[in-house]
Amino acid sequence: MTTQTTETTHPELELIPAAKPLIGQDERRAVDAVLASGGLAQGPEVAAFEHEFGDVLVDGRPVVAVNSGTAALHLALVALGVGPGDEVIVPSFTFAATANAVRLVGATPVFVDIDPITYCVDPAAVRRAVTPATRALMPVHLYGHPADMTALSAIAAEHGLLVIEDAAQAHGARWAGARVGSTSDAAAFSLYPTKNMTAGEGGMISTASAGVDRTLRLLRNQGMEQRYANEVIGFNARMSDIHAAIGRVQLGKVLSWTAQRQANAAYLTRELRGVVTPTVHAAAEHVFHQFVVRVPEDRDGFAEALRAEFAVGSGVYYPTPVHRLPSFGLELDLPETERAAGEVLALPVYPTLTLAQLDRIVEGVNTLAGAGR
Ligand SMILES: *Cc1c(COP(=O)(O)O)cnc(C)c1O
Repeated sequence: MTTQTTETTHPELELIPAAKPLIGQDERRAVDAVLASGGLAQGPEVAAFEHEFGDVLVDGRPVVAVNSGTAALHLALVALGVGPGDEVIVPSFTFAATANAVRLVGATPVFVDIDPITYCVDPAAVRRAVTPATRALMPVHLYGHPADMTALSAIAAEHGLLVIEDAAQAHGARWAGARVGSTSDAAAFSLYPTKNMTAGEGGMISTASAGVDRTLRLLRNQGMEQRYANEVIGFNARMSDIHAAIGRVQLGKVLSWTAQRQANAAYLTRELRGVVTPTVHAAAEHVFHQFVVRVPEDRDGFAEALRAEFAVGSGVYYPTPVHRLPSFGLELDLPETERAAGEVLALPVYPTLTLAQLDRIVEGVNTLAGAGR
């Protein structure tokens, strides 16, 4: 027997992981069919995946497939002409990829604070951060809860700004009835294994305009539409047919998985005591990429005890605000961002959790919170 690094008081309990990609026989068969076809790179599977993704998740908008969510953000900025001298307003309470994409095009990310209820950018803070150099707003639909698109669209319209959504965590979420990625200039989705649906790796960009759509198709493929007739300087950011085949199968399941995530979230919200459970804005449909509670005292000790005593995994997204990462190294006054970074804890919410597992999560959290942990 090997010794575990983390001792658990109940070695008979199987760990409930924080997240779990769901890959079944149909994903395997779809990959096998592509391998048997001999056409592995971007081809008919990618084209079909784009059409289906647009129909199912962004109200029929055109969608361009790329090889990651980060590439989706980056290429959206390039295609919309955001570059040196431009400021882009972003949250600091997000994954680094959001602000990295802005820096990679030579623009300046301007970090603003979040709304402590939704964890998304605070529209009032966004409004205060607008300057003559502001070119775009880049809200993040964090944890699957949409940012306030009504307020952000109004600010953008007033100042002539682009809106580029980071929808990496929010497949199918809605604000005021509209799917995220269906109303802005562009939106980037991620298909990384831990997201609400996966292609292994991958990303999707939905856009408002046929011109931007065409530019994105050029940019992902060395700037070419016709082979060796490169029109612009481009990247290789293509998705392979192997990845698209996985994504197409997952797309057929994502809406029912989302309903199960929402049901699991409702159960946890009803049963948990002693921690602050998520609030869903009246205009929002939350797709619960993460189910995030606040643990105001000793969050890290709480997570450790949850794992050791109840074999419940959890995650902290994100422990360090992006502006303070060594890669940015900024000192800013973003109090709600700092408070969230110290308090948030994501509990398992994935669709295949059993009732017994949900009850173990509830027992663990309520016992530890009740004991004053
Ligand atoms: C996952 C994620 C990304 C990046 O997506 P990748 O597919 O991993 O490149 C960007 N922004 C946010 C908020 C994410 O969660």
